[in-house]
Amino acid sequence: MRLKCPICGKVYEEPVQRCECGEPVEFELLKGEPYIGKSVWERFYDFWPVEPALEFSLGEGDTPLVKSKLSEELGVRLYLKNETVNPTWSFKDRGTFLAMSYAPKAGYKAVGTVSTGNMAASVSAYASRFGLDAKILVSESASNEKLKAVSVYGGDVIRVKGDYGRLYFESLKLGESLGIYFINSDNPFRVEGYKGIAFEIVEEVTPDYVLIPTSSGGLFRGVAKGFIELKESGLIEELPTLVAVQAEGCSPICRAFEEGKERIERFENPKTIAKAIANPYPPSGNAVLKLMRDFGWLCAAVSDDEIVEAQKKLAGEGLFVQPASATGIAALKKLVESGVIPEGAKVVSILTGSGLKTLSHAEGGRIRECPLEGLENCLR
Ligand SMILES: *Cc1c(COP(=O)(O)O)cnc(C)c1O
Ligand SMILES: [Zn+2]
Repeated sequence: MRLKCPICGKVYEEPVQRCECGEPVEFELLKGEPYIGKSVWERFYDFWPVEPALEFSLGEGDTPLVKSKLSEELGVRLYLKNETVNPTWSFKDRGTFLAMSYAPKAGYKAVGTVSTGNMAASVSAYASRFGLDAKILVSESASNEKLKAVSVYGGDVIRVKGDYGRLYFESLKLGESLGIYFINSDNPFRVEGYKGIAFEIVEEVTPDYVLIPTSSGGLFRGVAKGFIELKESGLIEELPTLVAVQAEGCSPICRAFEEGKERIERFENPKTIAKAIANPYPPSGNAVLKLMRDFGWLCAAVSDDEIVEAQKKLAGEGLFVQPASATGIAALKKLVESGVIPEGAKVVSILTGSGLKTLSHAEGGRIRECPLEGLENCLR
């Protein structure tokens, strides 16, 4: 199975983590046909670069596509891909599962990741499931509260003192020498696992637009590759327009895109409540920029106020997502108002992770008090 660098074009015969040029690598396009099967791993069997280790699956993927009640208000036909129902409550599980299907086959006894949030929890959980040791590197500032959802699975959670920005590359280097397979944000197998989101969407609708909260760029690249492979296989006629959505307070990809640059630059002093998409120097940033240019796709940045409003809108129809996951709806409102997305378009927004992960950032609703004696009046 060959990998290729999307930026310099160098080809690798073995699953390396990154290209020598510093950019991410990706598996060559896979083509195939769909089968009848229970899980996305079986139905799209031709499209995975490694045999999915189904005996260790926790049921990741095959998430609901919900027809949104916000369609009327927003003037589009809106569908919500609810990734919050994954085993550790985010889409990360899809990529973690596929990467761990590979790691033991390549002889690794331990896996790792660099994350403080959803990816850390996902790798920790699946390492336990696969019976692998886990080395979870988190930032010095990660709160004990947040790390409970990571350490509960029994992995080795390590607070690293020092420059968190360097940790991604340092972990890959050390992982190679120590035999730990680091499944970081844009690991090539992880990105492949995310293709399932595209596959499942087209089983139900053919969207005109797909809104993708974007941080490292791994999710965007995976969903993009999924749609491209469907088209190359003759299973869809046209690619949807993909929209990378970032928070204004940390939007290195949108900024470079707007300025017509080929390379992202580090976003200084990031500040947003959407912590899950606040990577100031996305490792797949240049690859995402290239995809957006090659296919005429879009980037949109939204403010924290707009994110909070969108989070409430989603809760208003029963879906509690974390701030990062509400950015798609915040962007959609702007893109429809400015005429970029036409009225009546078929739109899918990916709800990437659960609101229960970030309770401290959630604005709750109204709570009343009532004495038992007067309960009848309170219920009228
Ligand atoms: C990881 C994550 C993202 C962004 O994914 P990338 O692959 O880093 O671009 C978006 N939303 C949530 C909730 C996440 O956990
Ligand atoms: Zn390269």
